[in-house]
Amino acid sequence: MKSIRTDRPFPIPEVVRTVLQRLNQGGHIAYIVGGSVRDYLLGREMKDHDIATDADPNRLEELFPESLTVGKAFGVLKVPVTRIDPTSTESDRFIEVATFREDLEYRDHRHPVRVRFAGLEEDARRRDFTINAFYFDPKTARILDPVDGLPDLEARVIRSIGKPDKRFSEDALRLLRGVRFSHALGFRIEPETRAAIQARARLIGKISAERIRDELTLMLKSRDPRGAIEDLAALGLLAHILPRLDLLRRHPRDWKSTLELLGALAPVRDVHVAWAALFHRLGRVDSESAVDNPTAMAQLSAERAALHGEALRLSAKEISIIRSLISDLPKFREAFRMRDATLQRWVREPYFEPLLELHRAEAVCIDGNLAAWAFCSTLWRSYESRRVAGTLRDSKLLSGEDLIGLGLRPGPRFTALLREAEDLALEGVLNSKEEALEWVIKKASS
Ligand code: ATP
Ligand code: MG
Repeated sequence: MKSIRTDRPFPIPEVVRTVLQRLNQGGHIAYIVGGSVRDYLLGREMKDHDIATDADPNRLEELFPESLTVGKAFGVLKVPVTRIDPTSTESDRFIEVATFREDLEYRDHRHPVRVRFAGLEEDARRRDFTINAFYFDPKTARILDPVDGLPDLEARVIRSIGKPDKRFSEDALRLLRGVRFSHALGFRIEPETRAAIQARARLIGKISAERIRDELTLMLKSRDPRGAIEDLAALGLLAHILPRLDLLRRHPRDWKSTLELLGALAPVRDVHVAWAALFHRLGRVDSESAVDNPTAMAQLSAERAALHGEALRLSAKEISIIRSLISDLPKFREAFRMRDATLQRWVREPYFEPLLELHRAEAVCIDGNLAAWAFCSTLWRSYESRRVAGTLRDSKLLSGEDLIGLGLRPGPRFTALLREAEDLALEGVLNSKEEALEWVIKKASS
C-alpha cells in the first residue's frame, strides 16, 4: 500500500493520544483518519481527530467502558473527552473511534443497512472521496494512502472513491459533501464525479432537511459561498433544495446581485448574514411589480426567506434574525434623514452588528459609497461601548404606573406620551425621571 512520509510534526491532542495508546496497549492497530489527515496534508487547521481501528465493537466496549455506542452494529463508539481527561471542560466533545468496516447495503439512499467488519482497505473504500481516506499511523509517523488520494490532493481534485454513480446513489448526502469540499478547499470536481452529481441530483430529495441545512451552512461559512451556490445551481441541486431560490435565476439582475453579495461577504463572520444575503431578493420571484419599491420588496423577500428557513428547519430565533436583516436593509438609504430617536432605537436592535456587515457588503457591490455605513457604525460603536461598560442610561424613564400616578388613564394618548418621553430620552433631551415627569405634566395640560 502506498504511504506518505512527512517531515512536519503531526500535532495530536493529548486526549486523542491517550485513546490511541489505550488501543495499542490492548494489542490493536489504530490510525487517525479522514478530514484531519487531509487538512494536515493541506497545511490547514485540523478539526476533530477521528480514529479507525481493527478492534471489534465488543473489544472497544471493553477498552472504553465509559463510552456511548452510537451504533454498535456499525462499530462506532464516541468516547467523551471528559472521561479521558477529567480536567477537561468540554463536556460535549467526543472522540470517535470506529472499527474498520465495509458498508454492505444501503437503504433510502442514505443509510447502510448492514456492515461487515473488515480491514483497512475495505474501510477506505467505503469513504466518500479520495482525499478523505488518508490514515495517519502515529507509530511510524507515516500516512497510509490506500485509495491513491495523494495525486488528487496535489492536483486539488475531488474524486469519488469507486464508481461515482454508485457512490452517490448509495448515499445522496455525498452530492452536497462533494460540492462543499470543492468550495471550502478550492478544489475542482473531477469530470466523471461531477457528471454523476448532475445525473443523480434529484436524489438529494431523499436527504433530511436538517442534513441539507447543515451542509448549506458549512458552504455559506466557507471561503467561497458564492461559488458553492452557483455550483449547486449549475449541477441541478439547488432546484431540489431551495426551489424558489433556483427560480430567481430567471431574473438575471437579482440573481447576479445575490451572488455578488455572497461574494463580497466572504468569509462571513455571522452565518445569519449569509442566509440573509442568499434570500434577500427572493421576493422578486413572486412579484414583478414591486420592483420599484425596495422596502416592499425587502418585506416580501423577508417573508419568503422565513418560509425557506422553516423548510430547512432553521430555528425560530435564526429565522427571526434573518427576516430582520433582510427587511431592514433598505433602511440605510434613510439613515441621514431619520429622527435621532429612531436611529438610536435601531442601533439598539440585537441584530444591528450583523446588519452593518450585510449593508457594508451591499454598498460595496452597488457603488462603494460607505457614508451611511460609516455613520451608522459610529453610532453603533458608541452605543455598544456604553452598553459593555454598563454606562448606558435607561431610556425608559417613565412607566405606565408613573402616568397613572399623575392621574392619566391608559389609552392611545397615554401610550403616545410614554413613547415620546422615551424618544426624548434617547435624544438626550430628557435626562432624569423628574425631568420626564415635568415634561408629561406640561404636555398633558396643554
Ligand atoms: P470536515 O472537515 O467537514 O469534518 P471530514 O472529511 O472530516 O470533513 P466528517 O463528516 O467529519 O468529514 O467525516 C469523517 C470521515 O468519514 C470523512 O473524511 C470520510 O472519510 C468519512 N465520511 C463521512 N461522511 C461520509 C459519507 N456520507 N460517505 C462516505 N464517507 C463518509
Ligand atoms: Mg471531520
